[in-house]
Amino acid sequence: MTEKIKMKNPVVEIDGDEMTRVMWKWVKDKLILPFVDLKTEYYDLGLPNRDKTEDKVTFEAANAIKRWGVGVKCATITPNKERIREYNLKKEWPSPNATIRKELDGTVFRAPIIVNSVKPAVRFWKKPIVVARHAFGDIYDNTSIRFNEAGTAEIIFRSKKGEEIRAKMPEFKGPGVLQSIYNIDESIYGFARATFNYALAMKLDLWFASKDTISKVYDARFKEIFNEVYEKEFKESFAKAGINYSYFLIDDAVARIVRSEGGVVWACKNYDGDVFSDFVSTAYVGSLALMTSELMSPHGYYLSEAAHGTVQRHYYRYLKGEKVSSNPTALIFAWTRALKRRGELDGTPDLVEFSNNLEKAVIKTIDQDGIVTQDIARIMDPPADKFVYTEEFIDAIAKNLIELL
Ligand code: NAP
Ligand code: MG
Repeated sequence: MTEKIKMKNPVVEIDGDEMTRVMWKWVKDKLILPFVDLKTEYYDLGLPNRDKTEDKVTFEAANAIKRWGVGVKCATITPNKERIREYNLKKEWPSPNATIRKELDGTVFRAPIIVNSVKPAVRFWKKPIVVARHAFGDIYDNTSIRFNEAGTAEIIFRSKKGEEIRAKMPEFKGPGVLQSIYNIDESIYGFARATFNYALAMKLDLWFASKDTISKVYDARFKEIFNEVYEKEFKESFAKAGINYSYFLIDDAVARIVRSEGGVVWACKNYDGDVFSDFVSTAYVGSLALMTSELMSPHGYYLSEAAHGTVQRHYYRYLKGEKVSSNPTALIFAWTRALKRRGELDGTPDLVEFSNNLEKAVIKTIDQDGIVTQDIARIMDPPADKFVYTEEFIDAIAKNLIELL
């Protein structure tokens, strides 16, 4: 083997929980450290350390991404009542993903990792469908009230200068719930620009969809900003690239995406993106472990992660000493995308090439060698009767990687 690939600047490495934490180490030890002189700034967002630091470590990690520009994140537990008991937590700490997304104000791009042996459930789909989720505001930062009797409510906006805007809600005849949500122009402009830029870079059409016929102020503002950014900043470059921008109502977009052959970046508001990224990934590749998830902020901050969670059920089996067949593909791609971005920013083409080769090695292992984890074996066409355990899968990838280098 030749010399290890050198890095100029570090990547912010954010460790996580359960089975993904176990796989994180295997992936690093077998697929990265032997080949790259890895520079990282490490943050342990495993739940015990978040509890110990009273969640400060999450904010530190987000700030480190602002400092270094590039981060890679493992899946983390979002605590609930059961987790409080299981980990004896001081409190129900918020979702680290929500905290980091709010700090970075980014757009999350989720795309299928397309392998030939897994056919999309929707037979028309041939080209990638990337769901771009605005990762700021809306119900993810809602303020809500539960009330126990009839009454009235209004929304009051008070400007810094002291001016007020008021809007009355309908009268409530009995007990119920209410919720207010918000977004800000700056974030919507950033969302729009991030998606136009991404579509241009990938040479894919861009769709934006919302419900402006019903949400005549809120969603209408999103639509207006997308139109303005398109007309003023992207119309010419889109025409040159031979790609189109279209606005649809969200329900229309859902029907159209299923009938389309793909080849689209679909920009979604925060909640729509939460739902439709899982829908598209399941329908496209059938496994969350065959998805990439990349966050890009208008300031140029970048974070890649796996789209799935910590694979808790496999972890409990692993703790009992059983061998498990969890799929590390999305974690590997989180690393390749972060290293590729680092290499592009730093002008280190060796690092970019290494990332591309590692991705190729994964695809070759699945498609040509037919070596797969259980989740892929189940959904392969034709279905496979054999699968390997996680470490064997990683070893097979390492073998292919060495041949490519
Ligand atoms: P999950 O970890 O995504 O796993 C759900 C199921 O999907 C698994 O039981 C497994 O199915 C399958 N699966 C997911 N990833 C897989 C992989 N890499 N390889 C093979 N199979 C995979 O979701 P969850 O069990 O609902 O959540 C567990 C924890 O993750 C929760 O505490 C949640 O807060 C957290 N979470 C974190 C993130 C994040 O950090 N980005 C995202 C979502 C959830 P089978 O058991 O049928 O094999
Ligand atoms: Mg979701």
